[in-house]
Amino acid sequence: MPKAKESLRGLGAKYGGTVRKRYARVFRTLKAARECPSCASMKLKRSASGIWKCGSCGFTVAGGAYDVAPAKKA
Ligand SMILES: [Zn+2]
Repeated sequence: MPKAKESLRGLGAKYGGTVRKRYARVFRTLKAARECPSCASMKLKRSASGIWKCGSCGFTVAGGAYDVAPAKKA
C-alpha cells in the first residue's frame, strides 16, 4: 500500500489518524473516475449527496452519498 500522500487536502494534521484514514478512503471513492451509464464517458461525478451527474451528456442518476452504488456496511 502506498503512503496516503495523494490528492488529499483539507484535513492536514488534524482529527487523528483514524478519522483521516476514513476520510481518505471516502475521498478516493468519491473522486474516482466513473463511467456514465448513458454515454459511456468517464465523466460521471457527484453533483450533490446521492445525486450523480454526467459532465458529458447531462445524465443524472440517484445513488449513494459517496459512491454510485450505496455503500455496504463496512
Ligand atoms: Zn453521459
